[in-house]
Amino acid sequence: METTYKLLDGKKISGEIKQEIAAVVNELLEKGGRRPHLAGVLVGHDGGSETYMASKVKACEEVGFTSSLIRYEDDVTEEELLACVHRLNQDPTVDGFIVQLPLPKHIDEQKIIEAVDPRKDVDGFHPVNVGHLAIGAPGLRPCTPAGCIRMLDYAGIPIEGARAVIIGRSNIVGKPMAMLLLERHATVTVCHSRTKNLAEVAREADILVAAVGRPHFVTADMVKEGATVIDVGINRIAPKTLVGDVDFDAVSEVAGAITPVPGGVGLLTVAMLMENVVQAAKMQRG
Ligand code: NAD
Repeated sequence: METTYKLLDGKKISGEIKQEIAAVVNELLEKGGRRPHLAGVLVGHDGGSETYMASKVKACEEVGFTSSLIRYEDDVTEEELLACVHRLNQDPTVDGFIVQLPLPKHIDEQKIIEAVDPRKDVDGFHPVNVGHLAIGAPGLRPCTPAGCIRMLDYAGIPIEGARAVIIGRSNIVGKPMAMLLLERHATVTVCHSRTKNLAEVAREADILVAAVGRPHFVTADMVKEGATVIDVGINRIAPKTLVGDVDFDAVSEVAGAITPVPGGVGLLTVAMLMENVVQAAKMQRG
């Protein structure tokens, strides 16, 4: 059957972004500067976190950054982790760093996030950066929602004046996604687990963003004909099978444009992280 939807290909878009970043790194080196340096802190051996961190390290190699990985076992104390964050804050050779979430239950995640120097907070999770996003001031933006916006722009999908519906209100995806879409003049609705008539609300969307964490949650009856569907979800349903929050096969029959999983938003998240490292390096080096 002929394909009628437009596939928003994360591999192609992220590949181009990484090429642009590699060119910026070369320019920096030519001017006598040093390579941007991203450090990652990984606690424990969770399969998902290992995979995400490995893809970030690989992306650093692709764009020419220095990367370093600091590992702790699951029994690391909050004090040890805070001390590590303080060391990275002080280290002049580190431009930006991430502490891979989730953290073990005995560690207060928010306390760790708030200990990160906002200028090195390339995940964009620190309240200072969240605040800057909320008031539209410059700052480091959270990578996943920033990647969704980049995908829309790349595909030439109009945001201004569009009806955007986001399913999910987490601090790392749903809420910042709403703020970024508002900044771009969309009319934004945020749905969550207590939303009534969710399908009806979702059907109003010109741009529908799914960030729920439930396989195949968004079905074709929730999507307006021709709508753009951005699937943020990454759900492991079998050891080697990842699916999104959107029932891709059925929804792609209705949607005007749609992101695949894998090969969609996840790749843009990593590309946006690389951009944030460049931004952090420029801010700190002046
Ligand atoms: P989360 O669990 O923090 O938030 C999920 C949200 O979905 C909550 O706000 C909740 O209210 C809402 N929700 C849950 N059940 C619902 C229901 N029945 N109806 C309506 N809303 C409901 O998750 P998160 O961290 O925002 O992540 C969401 C998904 O995105 C996960 O699959 C995660 O793995 C994925 N993710 C992907 C990337 C990426 O780079 N592609 C990055 C971060 C998260």
